[in-house]
Amino acid sequence: MLKSNIRSMESSKSIEMKCPHDKLEFLGDQKGEKGVNKYYKCLKCGNVLILSEEGTWYEVPATERQ
Ligand SMILES: [Zn+2]
Repeated sequence: MLKSNIRSMESSKSIEMKCPHDKLEFLGDQKGEKGVNKYYKCLKCGNVLILSEEGTWYEVPATERQ
């Protein structure tokens, strides 16, 4: 009972969490399969944003759950 409660709270939280990611810290770039990917970290939510050479943004949620 408790577990399912926590789970539904978590999922709704992740949907509502929409950070504009307007405070980005440049982490560095890394050569990928299709060119250079640039890595940024959002200073507000801690998510990592990856900009591919094609100009596509990828978002990696922060993994700070303990
Ligand atoms: Zn953010």
